[in-house]
Amino acid sequence: MSAQVSPVTSIPRIGNYIGGRQVAGHGRTAPVFNPATGEVGGEVALASAADIEAAVASASAAFPAWSQQSPLKRARVLFRFKALFEAELDSLAAIITREHGKVLADARGELVRGLEVVEFACGIPELLKGDYTEQIATGIDAWTLRQPLGVCAGITPFNFPAMVPMWMFPMAIACGNTFVLKPSERDPSVALRLAELLTEAGLPDGVFNVLQGDKSAVDGLIDHPAVQAVSFVGSTPIAEYIYARGTAQGKRVQALGGAKNHMLVMPDADLDNVADALMGAAYGAAGERCMAISVAVVVGDETADALIRRLVPKVRALRVGDGAEDVDMGPLITAQHRDKVAGYIDDGVAAGAELVVDGRDHQVAGLPRGFFLGGSLFDRVTPEMRIYREEIFGPVLCVVRVPDFAAGLSLIDAHEYGNGTAIYTRDGYAAREFAHRVQAGMIGINVPIPVPMAFHSFGGWKKSLMGDHHAHGPEAVRFYTRHKAVTQRWQSAPAGAEFVMPTHGQL
Ligand code: NAD
Repeated sequence: MSAQVSPVTSIPRIGNYIGGRQVAGHGRTAPVFNPATGEVGGEVALASAADIEAAVASASAAFPAWSQQSPLKRARVLFRFKALFEAELDSLAAIITREHGKVLADARGELVRGLEVVEFACGIPELLKGDYTEQIATGIDAWTLRQPLGVCAGITPFNFPAMVPMWMFPMAIACGNTFVLKPSERDPSVALRLAELLTEAGLPDGVFNVLQGDKSAVDGLIDHPAVQAVSFVGSTPIAEYIYARGTAQGKRVQALGGAKNHMLVMPDADLDNVADALMGAAYGAAGERCMAISVAVVVGDETADALIRRLVPKVRALRVGDGAEDVDMGPLITAQHRDKVAGYIDDGVAAGAELVVDGRDHQVAGLPRGFFLGGSLFDRVTPEMRIYREEIFGPVLCVVRVPDFAAGLSLIDAHEYGNGTAIYTRDGYAAREFAHRVQAGMIGINVPIPVPMAFHSFGGWKKSLMGDHHAHGPEAVRFYTRHKAVTQRWQSAPAGAEFVMPTHGQL
């Protein structure tokens, strides 16, 4: 990736990717940090009106030819992209860790999950097949097909700078659309490298563009008359805003929001297994995952006491440090976010929750300016507390004690978020009841983070998703295409005028 350097500061400039090449962008910039060191590693361009226009114009110009390519030819570009991507997995992971902070193995994990969507999209000739019925009436056949929309936009969060964009663009372009990605301004670089790899794979210029920026870029994309559909992933307040603004203009919008994922722990669960599962699900990626488990709902005091006993030494033993080193957990994304999470911990203490492990003053040797927190564990959290109601998005696990299964289920259902949830039990009936009744989009049975594979679709319920379609998988084919139904008759002789609604005779 060829970085430009700011003539004033000698800090690398992170620009846009428009029309098959990197372009500098005009106007404002924002600092991009290495969260492990606290140092500024780059300056990202924040799109001006001219940049937005250039990106959408490039995608609009590329649409007619790209949408006329056969699905098989589009798939072949993705096959080549897959090979190039695999060869670069480690360096892509290093870009993510440098700007996001997550550990390298986790960065590789998100890349592989993104790649799985590419692999699914390579099957687009099969996925775009319509239905056909011969002889719906005498001499008449009918079929349905799906056609691309035009220019689609993707607006993505900081926490998965490669995977979440890859939920979107492989499916969108495989369906014949062109795409403008607006990545998070906190970790914008990996998107540029993905764009370069797509070009190297033979994607025609303008089919995939990256527009860096903040709210102005987002507003400019939503309001642009050429943008037909918007896929958003981020926090719920912004998801609601984008959904309202886009749909008010008659656009297709899917907006995935925040989460507060609960794990229901039944008294018969294997608690060693539960403790291990919670460690990864609550503290992996420093809790900055929309599928992180942030609440353990534990049935019975005895179960809760036994679980806390198992968790405390594990949380204290978390190895926190630079994600590029051999650690369990990296820093948070910014100093502001680190302080916000620490503020939630203060708030929980003030509200009377029992702070069993306090990660607020965690120091990492040699990295005094990194945005670190240790793992924190709260017990006896109650539903009216802010630490229970709001998404903290940090390495903080709240234990809520409930008397029985029914109380646990009602608690989960009453929460405004409904992204993912899990149950840990040895009782098949309880597991089946839970999966059937719980009000959430993705359910784990003895699986803590039930992220659906690329060939299923991903999405939550309630305030975790606005719109009609979930992300990637078969739902993405529906989101990124319009349905068309064709009815045909080839007559050998004139049939005469018909003045009544055609039916199959009298009933
Ligand atoms: P965010 O909402 O702050 O930002 C997401 C995107 O919106 C970014 O590209 C950002 O530039 C843009 N944006 C921010 N403020 C805006 C505004 N006022 N107007 C228009 N656009 C704006 O989210 P984040 O902090 O980057 O990511 C963390 C959030 O994303 C968490 O809430 C997490 O749960 C959520 N998330 C959800 C899923 C899911 O699948 N449901 C997946 C990943 C992350």
